[in-house]
Formats: sequence, structure tokens, C-alpha cells
Amino acid sequence: MKHNAKGDGLDVLLRALRLPSFVACHADVAKQAEGQGWNFKQYLSHLAEQELAERKQRKIDRLTRTSKLPREKILSTFDLSRMPDKVRRQVPSLCEGDFIGRAENILAFGLPGRGKTHLICAIGHELIKRGYKVLFIPAYSLVQKLLIAKRDLCLDKELRRLDRFDAIILDDIGYIQQEREEMEVLFTFLGERYERRSVMITSNLVFSQWDKIFKDPMTTAAAIDRVIHHATILEINGSSYRNDVASKLVKEHT
Ligand code: ADP
Ligand code: MG
Repeated sequence: MKHNAKGDGLDVLLRALRLPSFVACHADVAKQAEGQGWNFKQYLSHLAEQELAERKQRKIDRLTRTSKLPREKILSTFDLSRMPDKVRRQVPSLCEGDFIGRAENILAFGLPGRGKTHLICAIGHELIKRGYKVLFIPAYSLVQKLLIAKRDLCLDKELRRLDRFDAIILDDIGYIQQEREEMEVLFTFLGERYERRSVMITSNLVFSQWDKIFKDPMTTAAAIDRVIHHATILEINGSSYRNDVASKLVKEHT
């Protein structure tokens, strides 16, 4: 391969090695190296570090896209001080993701508007930063997907596809159509992941009300058993964030 003075040949080599940041930056970094009197090793390390950092960022971007997580529901926009002490203490270690290695679950309970979805999503984003594959899906939408797959005789395939994710966030498990078919596929899904893969569930129904989801007492007990067996429970009480913001606005304008 012919290398010309402009470094095009070098760029071809770097592209073939899949080093896009080297391609984009080597000329500028060379100038910087000259200006600051770096040796060859310093120059090369700088480029390698940049390549690695950008590779990591690209991976995070990719995982964030496939996760379908709402972009704005992150930890920095979440007011943790509104959470009960216990929840505040639980959050940092959950963000580390060790629970995923143990195929454990997270359950966030609380009345509507308390921040369950936001907090669980924020944890999801933190997990992605650590390289975990996360999927966010409203529970009713997962159930619809599974029902369609079942009808088309490809439920197994769909479950295997979902298996790629280290953690699946099932948002609002209380809002599922209460038909037998619906609860059956949900139950199959939970059983499939049990002790192998994590689920993160938000619900405004406490366990004693889960018979509204799973109908008969046996299935309800079995479903609870599967999710609770290895789980961290976040009990999110307190007042509604939306109501508090609304009443603050009202006060400010009256
Ligand atoms: P839930 O899932 O419990 O019904 P959400 O997570 O959807 O509640 O929260 C309702 C709204 O209030 C969302 O817009 C969310 O971003 C916001 N919110 C709730 N709690 C907090 C909090 N502690 N800090 C910042 N925003 C919050
Ligand atoms: Mg919610």
C-alpha cells in the first residue's frame, strides 16, 4: 500500500483496524504532541485512550438506543432526597448492577406519581453505563407482544430474543388487561427469567393486590414467589411529585 504525505494510506490502515478516533484525531494530536514535546509513546497512548473512551461512549449510545429507556429519566434529574431513607441507601449499590450477576430482581412499589418509573429508569441508565443490556417496556406492551408471538407460534423465539437483555424493566405491571391469556404469557415470561435473568418491575399494586393481575390464587402466589425469591424491594411512599409541583405553581401564582 502506498502511503502519501497526507496520511490517506495511514487512514485506510486505521479504518481497516477499526480505529475511527485514530483517523479523526491523529493529525491534531500530532500537532499537540509537537507543541508539548511528547515522545512517541505519549502520543500513541493519548490516541489509544481517546479511541477507547469513544468506543465506550458509542457502546453506551447503542445500548441506550436499544433499551428504549426514556432519555430524560436519569439520576441527575431525580430528586433522591424525596425518597424514604431506606430507598436512598439502596440506590447506589443497585446502580452498580451486582444484582444482575446474581439474576436478582428489583421491585418498586408505590402510589402513582411517586417516581417509581423515573427511579427505575435512572437505575437502568446507570446499568447501561456499566455495560449492561437493559430493555424498558410497559408491561401491557410486553404482554401484547408475547400474545402476538404466541398466536404466530413463535413465543419461544420472542422469549429467546428477550433473553439477550441482562435486565428487563416491566413498567406498571398493575395495568394489564385481566384476561386469562394475558396473565398466562406474563407468567411464562416471569418463569422463563426466574433465577437466570433480572426483571425490574414497577407497580402501584402491592403483592396482596396481585390477584387482580394473575386472577387465581395459585398463579398469583406462584408469580409472587418467582419475582420475590431474590429481590430488592423499593417502597416508594410520600406525596406525589406531580401534585407537589402543581400546588407549588398554584401557590406562586395566587
Ligand atoms: P410513578 O411511576 O410512580 O407513577 P413517575 O416516575 O412517572 O411516577 O413520576 C411522575 C413524574 O414526576 C415524572 O415526570 C417524574 O419525572 C417526576 N418525578 C417523580 N419523582 C421525582 C423525583 N423524586 N425527582 C424528580 N422528578 C420526579
Ligand atoms: Mg410509572
